[in-house]
Amino acid sequence: MKSARITGPNEPLAVSNFETPKPEGSQVLVKVNSVGVCHSDLHLWEGGYDLGDGQFMKVTDRGVKYPVTPGHEIVGTVEEIGDSASGVSKGDQVLVFPWIGCGECPACKVGNENLCDTPKSMGVFQDGGYSDFALIPNSKYLAKLDGVDPDAATSLACSGLTAYTAIKKSNQNSPEFIVIVGAGGLGLMGVQIAKAITNAKIICVDLDDQKLETAKEMGADFTVNSKDPETAKKIMSICNEKGADSVVDFVNAPPTAKLDFAILRKRGNLVLVGLFGGSIELSLVTIPLKSIIIQGAYTGNYTDMVELLDLARKGTINPVISKRYSLDEANSALEDLKARKIIGRAVINP
Ligand code: NAD
Ligand code: ZN
Repeated sequence: MKSARITGPNEPLAVSNFETPKPEGSQVLVKVNSVGVCHSDLHLWEGGYDLGDGQFMKVTDRGVKYPVTPGHEIVGTVEEIGDSASGVSKGDQVLVFPWIGCGECPACKVGNENLCDTPKSMGVFQDGGYSDFALIPNSKYLAKLDGVDPDAATSLACSGLTAYTAIKKSNQNSPEFIVIVGAGGLGLMGVQIAKAITNAKIICVDLDDQKLETAKEMGADFTVNSKDPETAKKIMSICNEKGADSVVDFVNAPPTAKLDFAILRKRGNLVLVGLFGGSIELSLVTIPLKSIIIQGAYTGNYTDMVELLDLARKGTINPVISKRYSLDEANSALEDLKARKIIGRAVINP
């Protein structure tokens, strides 16, 4: 099999041939049709996360071992099945749930493997889908596409799934206004999902007018380009000067986090999702005085992924796939994402 692998931080991905693994026990070998290129692949490639104040959290300190094959938004065709694998047959088109946990910790025990204490996520802690074949540890992590377009379905394993979790968290107490910060792969899914599952008016914020235009097409009621120094003022005016009931920040960097706190209303709900990172200073008294909720959202669970597949099958959500690359072009795919050239998602078709 041929895989594009990260050999070390910021090193060009190496595309090489390896022996194709043979599935054993519950394992399934999938021929990869399409794999989404997520901004998290960029953080993995860069070697970690910006903690702010010049500090950096290395992925190797979190258990990543290079070389690793990235890619956690994997759609493929079942090629070969281990002796004890069940529920799928050769030739089935499947979406892979990549957020694999230990199965033993409190989160895994209630079905939230995505929040496992010792995660084994594909494309992060074990090899993922930037490859023509991927070995899936257990057939239980597969969901049949049953008619969903393979390129579009990739998004449902991460960008759509994460947006689904985050929008559900933001949809407490019947919000009148939800602000979505960042109109990239995650944010555009967030806009569509918010339109589908909430009754709120949606305000979308980004630095890029073209992305905001797409956000409007996906259902955003208002868009604001945050290059405008009056951004907070504009949003307050849209929200009748009270502020937003919920803000979902798919960037989560100092400028966006400062904006989030400036526009959040009393009793508001802030959901932080992006991993752009950095740090900010907080006026602590404002948190109790405004009685705000600050929470994080990290990917989603298998059940939510299956629900999303259903929404995509019905046409309620339509992931935006704007660019396709071959496996040999994996480096260009990451470079283009970094340069903010991608609208919605790009996929690699190995
Ligand atoms: P993306 O590159 O597709 O989109 C990022 C968007 O943010 C772009 O549209 C860009 O123009 C916009 N942006 C950047 N800086 C901005 C700023 N200062 N103000 C306003 N807009 C700004 O990325 P993505 O794939 O959507 O991922 C977004 C972030 O979410 C990444 O950090 C990624 O690693 C993270 N992520 C988190 C989870 C999770 O479970 N929490 C899951 C997947 C991805
Ligand atoms: Zn992702």
